Amino acid sequence: MKVKSAYIHIPFCVKICTYCDFNKYFIQNQPVDHYLDCLIKEMEMSETRELQTMFVGGGTPTALDVHQLEKLLIAINNLFTITGEYSFEANPDELTIEKLQLLKRYGVNRLSMGVQTFNPKLLEVLGRSHKTEDIYSAVENARTVGFESISLDLMYQLPQQSLEDFKESLDLALALDIDHISSYGLILEPQTQFYNMYRKGKLSMPNEDVGEAMYEYLITRMHSSEMHQYELSNFGKVGHESEHNKVYWKNEGYYGFGAGASGYVDGERYTNVNPVNHYIKKIENNERPILHATQPTRTEQMEEEMFLGLRMNQGVSISRFHEKFDISINEIFGQTLSDLLERGLIKQSDDYFSLTERGKVIGNEVFEAFLLSV
Ligand code: SF4
Repeated sequence: MKVKSAYIHIPFCVKICTYCDFNKYFIQNQPVDHYLDCLIKEMEMSETRELQTMFVGGGTPTALDVHQLEKLLIAINNLFTITGEYSFEANPDELTIEKLQLLKRYGVNRLSMGVQTFNPKLLEVLGRSHKTEDIYSAVENARTVGFESISLDLMYQLPQQSLEDFKESLDLALALDIDHISSYGLILEPQTQFYNMYRKGKLSMPNEDVGEAMYEYLITRMHSSEMHQYELSNFGKVGHESEHNKVYWKNEGYYGFGAGASGYVDGERYTNVNPVNHYIKKIENNERPILHATQPTRTEQMEEEMFLGLRMNQGVSISRFHEKFDISINEIFGQTLSDLLERGLIKQSDDYFSLTERGKVIGNEVFEAFLLSV
């Protein structure tokens, strides 16, 4: 199937957050210009020139200075025709008018801002580089420059965070009348500052019940606003769902460009080499910068179809499954589906199986059932 989407990874940040286990490096003393040259070379190697969606993420792409940013934007424009969503991830304190104008000039039509919380104390605990007031000025600047599609990332289940605190952040985000919100619970990942603090008893996390209550509140609050839930952690106004992210959940192909980026092309899932210097070396040697690549088996593809598709409110299409795998969904997953239906964790309507409200809260348990069943 023709690949219609691409992800570009900019693995640099101006400050390293205490909870972060993403693939990123403190930008100071990194070979940023050299990295961009190699990234552009990697993009030149790809066959596709027409894309429906593009997502530039990181790290933080807006950590680049204006010259670096323009170099990247020009290269993307020269190499690809992007017919649909063109998103840039951004930190609020880095969204200056100058950078926003550049993004706009080169066709970026959606901003995804890493806000995480409006609580100034929690922003500090998270080690974020921005302050609460930066969120307001970034949204205002983006609107002044003419961005119509703005998404905010909000986290919940943060250290010492109460349900009330999360409610307040959510209300403040909604009061900004933006178009899209992604909200994820914090997971303590090994090799982060948070994880070490937690092990030493220096970090107090809300218990699981509070985390569940926050997620349930999130769904209810969004339901009563204009934002409809279309994926477990994603909410948008009509016409503002992330088309790029839907490519992942629909288990479709995409390129991944940059150090540590992942892609899915012609039935092959691959991950690029990391760290930055290893990536640069591969590209300089005119090699594909692949660390590992696998071809998911048919069974794995069917499992992925289920647990990725069930993340979306719409769910998994019974007819699409049949079309894709030439076998009925019931023949493969019949027992699991009837168990989950009986337990009230999934429901069936017309052509779709989807999660119930309870199923959404314990989604991982549902997904695991499909891993075990084949
Ligand atoms: S800005 Fe994002 S990628 Fe960078 S350290 Fe913070 S959470 Fe990680």
